[in-house]
Amino acid sequence: MRPDPDRSSELEVFAPADAWVVRRHGPRGYVADEHYQPWLRDEFTYRCLYCACREVWFPDGDSSFSVEHLRPISLAPEGLTDYHSLVYACCQCNASRGAARLPFDPTAGMRQHIEVLADGIIRGLTPAGEDFIRICRLDRPNLVAFRRLMLDVLRLLGRKRDREAAELRRRYLGYPANLPDLSALKPPGGNSRPEGIEWSAFARRERGELSEVY
Ligand SMILES: [Zn+2]
Repeated sequence: MRPDPDRSSELEVFAPADAWVVRRHGPRGYVADEHYQPWLRDEFTYRCLYCACREVWFPDGDSSFSVEHLRPISLAPEGLTDYHSLVYACCQCNASRGAARLPFDPTAGMRQHIEVLADGIIRGLTPAGEDFIRICRLDRPNLVAFRRLMLDVLRLLGRKRDREAAELRRRYLGYPANLPDLSALKPPGGNSRPEGIEWSAFARRERGELSEVY
């Protein structure tokens, strides 16, 4: 990612996802798509791929999220339980998008198409980005207001240097407490990327290597 002096670390919290080089996990064989949710939580770092809102910002945490299909099931029913066509999204973004076709694959990177400004406004950098915002309603007024509020709070906490501010910042930007232990899950069709489990947030927390904020 190119360095940008105007891009504060707070703004980075809402920055659209960067390119997905490769998935860490490869569970296979679940008959229901919701069984992939623990894997997707970790794969997408406990936040919505579309709006970047985190589980810890929702009163009901991961219950406010769902398995989302990159290709609408109505157009590609064979993708219902194909892990590589599944992503993690909050229920509101999932519902907003509905069965619409996306103009690009967001796991291949969204930053060239979309940007979030310091006041919480989101805008398209390309026609495809504008379409994406419209389809997922990423400019819905409540979400814009929430981004603005969070950016104001995080900027304030970032300026303060005391322990309470640091603790509050950790609670806003840290991992959820209920990380799934992926090593305990047994996908019926196996796991094509078992090495990814070692790098899951749960495993890193067990080893004392998980960062406090992300
Ligand atoms: Zn969302």
